[in-house]
Amino acid sequence: MKRRLKISAQMKEEGMNGYAEKILRINLTGRKITTIPTRDYKKWVGGHGMGSAIFFDLVKDKTIDGFDPANVVTLMTSPLSGTLVPAGAGRTEVQGIGVQSYPIGWFTRSNFGGRFSPMLKYAGWDGIVIEGKADKPVWIDIRNDNVKIRDCSSLSLWGTDTWECQKRIWKYVAGSGTYGDWIQPEGQEGGKTTQRPAVLAIGPAGENLSRMACLIHDAGNGSGQSGFGAVWGSKNLKAISVIGTGSIHVHSPKALLEARLWQKKNFAFDLDDPETGRAPCVFEHAPVQSPMWKGPPKSKSAQKGEYFARPIEGQRPQACVGCHAGCRARFESGLGNEAHCLATLFYVDAKSLEIQRKATDLLNKYGLNAVEMTYSVLYLRDLYELGILGPGNTIDCPLDFTDYGSFEFVEQFVKMVAYRNDGLGKKNEFGDGMAEGIVRTAKKWGRLKEDLRTGLLPLPHWGIPVHYDPRVELEWGYGSILGDRDINEHDFNTLFWDAAQAEFIGTEPKTTAEETVKIYTDKMVPFEGDPLMLDYSDENMYSEHIAKLVSWHRWYTRFWKQSALFCDWRWPDFLNLCAPGKIGSTGEAEPKFFNAVTGKDFTFRDGIELGRKIWTLDHSIWILQGRHRDVVHFADYVYSEPIVSVYGVLKHFMPGKKDGKWDYFDYSARHIDKNKFEEFKTRFYTLQGWETTTGYPTRTTLEWLGLGYVADELEQYGKLGKG
Ligand code: SF4
Repeated sequence: MKRRLKISAQMKEEGMNGYAEKILRINLTGRKITTIPTRDYKKWVGGHGMGSAIFFDLVKDKTIDGFDPANVVTLMTSPLSGTLVPAGAGRTEVQGIGVQSYPIGWFTRSNFGGRFSPMLKYAGWDGIVIEGKADKPVWIDIRNDNVKIRDCSSLSLWGTDTWECQKRIWKYVAGSGTYGDWIQPEGQEGGKTTQRPAVLAIGPAGENLSRMACLIHDAGNGSGQSGFGAVWGSKNLKAISVIGTGSIHVHSPKALLEARLWQKKNFAFDLDDPETGRAPCVFEHAPVQSPMWKGPPKSKSAQKGEYFARPIEGQRPQACVGCHAGCRARFESGLGNEAHCLATLFYVDAKSLEIQRKATDLLNKYGLNAVEMTYSVLYLRDLYELGILGPGNTIDCPLDFTDYGSFEFVEQFVKMVAYRNDGLGKKNEFGDGMAEGIVRTAKKWGRLKEDLRTGLLPLPHWGIPVHYDPRVELEWGYGSILGDRDINEHDFNTLFWDAAQAEFIGTEPKTTAEETVKIYTDKMVPFEGDPLMLDYSDENMYSEHIAKLVSWHRWYTRFWKQSALFCDWRWPDFLNLCAPGKIGSTGEAEPKFFNAVTGKDFTFRDGIELGRKIWTLDHSIWILQGRHRDVVHFADYVYSEPIVSVYGVLKHFMPGKKDGKWDYFDYSARHIDKNKFEEFKTRFYTLQGWETTTGYPTRTTLEWLGLGYVADELEQYGKLGKG
């Protein structure tokens, strides 16, 4: 006990609250293992901020391709990882140059949940930096301070799917005992644990450099977008395993526990009345209310009940470490466990729910991104129905579309993309092309321009599939095209879902548009009190108010979600039906949890400002990669075509103001005006402090943000904005 107290006092002196104080640096070329002191990057707090800063320092030539061995991939935790912060303790941020986006792989990010980042902290690490390329397939074995780069050959890991790979590593590291057995890994002076190692792995898709390849941890935690699975494959890195027996020093366990109880008492759903909320992404939502569903309803009248009732079979909640929400499910059938959202929607035309769940499992086992795989199979289906693809047609394809909807069909499709063959084991040009991703495949077929013009290929930004439509969900679309990927941040997405679902089932939204807009925008410091930030009307969609909305969203997510690592599925908590006055906890909650762990006196606004700095650093990296205002354009169809629909039936409602009155309006019929979007870009760049003609950040802005060294590098390449 005495020794523990001594360590605790020492930690406090050194400001270790929430930190392990060292980052693991692994250069696979030459198999060098070193450390980076966390203090060198602590001003960035953690997660994305630290990852971007490390990337900037270590990658001298930012124009390299994602497959270049000099590409650096970071896996970062936050001070909150592994603590009791609700929906804020289990995420890991992944960064590096990706290989999915088009025309080039931008410096980009992804993120996954589970228990990897907590375990990394318990092992004594704040993050992992991966450089170089191994001479043969390897995996990294982390047991507290004891880190080894091991050949895959002894466990025959290369060639396994992600689940089999993890099982082999678990057995190797933890032995073949049962759960609950104590394990004593090396290091930490004889510490023990009943946990199994947390393993992050690639499947065959990553090994074969499919640009849709992702990283998988446990059954269904996926670092989905950006193609990091392929980047790992190019580095000959199959998996990272980590097991730790240490702990994390929390500044005030009492304050942390009180904050958690405060959140639960005032903002969480009521288990006796779990139907109160039913809106996603906030604390009003009961666990496991959104298991895998049967796909989008085929018709409004036929499946209305089924669509929203979402029949729930025997299941139990599954959660990331520290999270009370348990938004994923484990099913009695054992199929589709831990998958969520679009991963569960893949293969929407499956002939049965069982086939759909098995298809989801295939994605996780072979290590493929659900979003792009979903849109890829739909694109092929459309081309087949148009008579363009299939036997004897312009595009020859080994898939048998007369069997579309069966398990055999989807298994062949998944294997085709994962192995670059015909999906049955034979070399095949079509499969090889599909592994390059949907946008590059369409280009190879000579269809890209036309299919982006009509929208047959719904890739609005950077060759990445649509998620929520930029013509309606402005903050989503604008944020994506001004960034590096489909943002996949649901902060304002509840605005759409609440109104669209209400209209679909013939009820009223749970709050009026005016009330909702006020609750949201009152929290959006430093722009608080401007309700027009959420006026999605045609008249307002290119305005300075929307520029503020997009800015706030970029800054909030860059810090609070991607650096402090609050989970996108539960934060921010804007409007909360369980809370007094329906006012959620965001603004108050984030710093409350953060300060309880770190002992800092950090405000919500401090986080937004740091988010701005991180966003500007990312933007500077994109500029060094070749970004210029002139290349920031949506796909052509976004400027000319109206929207079809969401999931076949839902209308595109968002709040808007008309004739002085707020309401929810259906904006399906519109498209983005290209010239007016150019005016919007100018407003947005002005707000960021970037040169408006190029989009290059200025020295004044960079120095004001404490990024003078970034200005120097931009200047060196003639990419510093004037002003
Ligand atoms: S809300 Fe879901 S994804 Fe997010 S931390 Fe909780 S269990 Fe994990």
